[in-house]
Amino acid sequence: MEKWKQLLSRAMTDPAEAARHFGVPEAPLRRAAEKFPLRISPHYLSLIREPGDPLYRQCVPDERELAPGLLDDPLGEEAHSPVPCVVHRYHDHCLLLVSGECATYCRFCTRKRRCGCARAELAAGIAYIAAHREIRDVLVSGGDPLLLDDGELEAVLREVRAIGHVEIIRIGTRIPCMLPERLTRNLCRMLKKYHPLYMNVHFNHPDELSAPALDALERLADAGVVLGSQTVLLRGVNDDPEVMRKLMEGLLAARVRPYYLLQMDLVRGGGHFRTPLETGVAIIDALRGHTSGLAVPHFIVDLPGGRGKVELVPQYLLRKEGKRVIFRNHRGEECVYPEV
Ligand SMILES: *Cc1c(COP(=O)(O)O)cnc(C)c1O
Ligand code: SF4
Repeated sequence: MEKWKQLLSRAMTDPAEAARHFGVPEAPLRRAAEKFPLRISPHYLSLIREPGDPLYRQCVPDERELAPGLLDDPLGEEAHSPVPCVVHRYHDHCLLLVSGECATYCRFCTRKRRCGCARAELAAGIAYIAAHREIRDVLVSGGDPLLLDDGELEAVLREVRAIGHVEIIRIGTRIPCMLPERLTRNLCRMLKKYHPLYMNVHFNHPDELSAPALDALERLADAGVVLGSQTVLLRGVNDDPEVMRKLMEGLLAARVRPYYLLQMDLVRGGGHFRTPLETGVAIIDALRGHTSGLAVPHFIVDLPGGRGKVELVPQYLLRKEGKRVIFRNHRGEECVYPEV
């Protein structure tokens, strides 16, 4: 068995074991884990310093997940699924969901409802993309696509790459953060064959940028994979401009270009992670002009019901006085811009 598979098989999945490990009561943990499974990879477990820290909160079941309300399918993905493995919401790009499994289950996950995609369904998904000439960008997602075997993943990439109208392939994954051992040289050599290949990695806290994670990112960047990041804005985890600045600068130093900062979706059991919209806007405001522009992600709200992503930006245009447009800059100074 490959090393990463052994590590995955040793992931913490038993609520009683987790309760013992962290010295916390078992019953609440068990109740929440009945609704959405517990799994913490050995690597991620090793990064948790104490109960309640920002990494603990992301993966240890919590009774607040049992709160009623909110939505099972906050992004209306079922309604936009022409075939089980495809979510086609925008005209020219779509999601191909190839795996229902993750190395660590994030308690805030938007796709809590999902389980795996059978082989026949995957074939139907690829056939759908082949039949829709307008699709020029395919996002391979899940679950985590990098939990497929090298062979299975290569089969998906080969088939998608063989479709003439598909220009770029993107992979969405949390593996560099959760199971960096999975990013073997063999895997990177295989990925290289399917360029132009983009990868969006998911990191939420600077403590997740561990030495093994940075090594994994380096192997990917060296394979020519264009790296971007997604971060979910989470209360009590990263809803702080300083934490976010460290994370974005750390990603950039690892050759990952911050792409999206995502407002928490309205997923059932995730309400305790939600922040007011102004928190995200204030974070962008604290970044723009105070760090490299490359370190500033787009702050995105994915509208309920699958109505699409919209970007929120700080208000820099204060008012217009005839042809005089009054802006404020990152230092809060007012400046006049003469309109044509
Ligand atoms: C987020 C998402 C995408 C990708 O959006 P980009 O803004 O192009 O990165 C595509 N399809 C669906 C259904 C999505 O939710
Ligand atoms: S890695 Fe992504 S898909 Fe998997 S549980 Fe976390 S947020 Fe959900």
